[in-house]
Amino acid sequence: MSFPKPPSVVIVGRPNVGKSTLFNRITSSRRAIVGNQPGITRDRILLPVEWKGRRFGLTDTGGMLFGDEGEFPALISQQVRAALEAASRVIFVIDGRSELTATDRDLADLLRRLNKAVALAVNKCDTEAAEVRAAEFHELGIEHVFAVSAEHGRGVDALLNHVVEGMPTEEEVGTGSERPVRVAIIGRPNVGKSTLLNCLTGKDRAIVSATPGTTRDAVDEEVVRRGTRFEFVDTAGIRRKGKTREMAEKLSVVMAQRHLRLADVALLLIDATEGVAALDANIAGYADEAGKALIILVNKWDQLPGKDRRKFEQDAREKLKFLAYAPIHFVSALENRGVQQIFALVRRVHQAARRRIPTGELNRFVQSVDLERSSTPKSRRPKIQYVTQGGVGPPTFIFFTNHKGKFHFGFERFLKNQLRRAFDFEGTPLVIKSKAKQR
Ligand code: GDP
Ligand code: GDP
Repeated sequence: MSFPKPPSVVIVGRPNVGKSTLFNRITSSRRAIVGNQPGITRDRILLPVEWKGRRFGLTDTGGMLFGDEGEFPALISQQVRAALEAASRVIFVIDGRSELTATDRDLADLLRRLNKAVALAVNKCDTEAAEVRAAEFHELGIEHVFAVSAEHGRGVDALLNHVVEGMPTEEEVGTGSERPVRVAIIGRPNVGKSTLLNCLTGKDRAIVSATPGTTRDAVDEEVVRRGTRFEFVDTAGIRRKGKTREMAEKLSVVMAQRHLRLADVALLLIDATEGVAALDANIAGYADEAGKALIILVNKWDQLPGKDRRKFEQDAREKLKFLAYAPIHFVSALENRGVQQIFALVRRVHQAARRRIPTGELNRFVQSVDLERSSTPKSRRPKIQYVTQGGVGPPTFIFFTNHKGKFHFGFERFLKNQLRRAFDFEGTPLVIKSKAKQR
């Protein structure tokens, strides 16, 4: 069993802005309890910090050398770059008492390209008057700006409050040790699967760890959100591309089948600019057959400004009739719009797929089913004696009746609809079995 690593927070900034002073302030502060394992290596200072019940590793890049001024763009050493790439959050420190320098701007650019969650700490704001100036640094394009004085401790609490926002608490990390929700990203070539994966696992990630899967190149990436662990299956496979269009299409089907076997929940991506294609329906069919919970994601929605979602949804529903149970959600993986809500959706459909209906409720359900409403002719309508739930993922119901053999297709659909009306099974297929009651 792999346990998630605590998130990593990295302090970065050009020399002399006060990184080390801030690092010492945070790690030695009475309010932030520091662990007793000072992971100090030759080139890296990393200490565990706890703030408001959240634990993270704080790294000071102050000791990491910057490149030579002449070596643009190597101003930022490989070491610093590597620390930043691995970071969940970044504290970018600048000197509030001096003008911005080229290095400040280069760092800001790098952070933007890395797509990291950044807090800008305008340091050396020792007085209230100095704090006012901090607003001037908005020009760096960083949204979250904090005036601090590392030396005097001003503003540091507010900065930390922001930094730990959204991190799992100790308690949540604890409950996270149960099996993660396994998620497959499936769809035709070029619908944006890799882009979405990057978006879901990359930016603002709280915790990510890679565990090697069954084959040499299968890598599962894990993300923790609000105490739930999500594991994206075979992320190497999601990123794999076929050389020709034909190969890519075949590969997408093979990958979908394989990933569905490994997953609890599937995300089926549709390209908004192309609408629902035959291959989409084909891949969707495998998800349904596999009995996996499913969410339909209409991606690249940024490409269709002003387009009516309802109309698109109607058309998609028409073409994917057998997936009426799957929620449809509009996103732009490229612009990270609607993407973060996916975690809540996955949690919801996964719960629906694991739902167990207590026997008492099932009995009441049987009594309430109005068989007259079924379109099956009365003579061929089975009499339901009782129902039991045989399993979950997908929820499977065994109907005991006076009828031998499988139910008629229409009658089965009628029962599924009745079950969906009575209980929340959004996003999951249902399985109905019939059994002749023994006399
Ligand atoms: P680093 O190179 O970024 O790690 O910077 P240091 O932490 O070594 O600090 C550089 C200089 O700035 C030192 O002389 C610090 O005493 C000073 N300094 C750091 N923080 C503050 C602050 O909040 N206010 C003032 N006035 N000086 C500071
Ligand atoms: P995959 O083959 O399904 O993994 O697709 P990719 O993630 O490689 O994306 C294919 C292309 O679509 C790339 O050029 C992406 O930049 C682009 N793309 C992905 N998501 C979006 C999106 O939300 N909006 C737009 N406009 N383009 C996107």
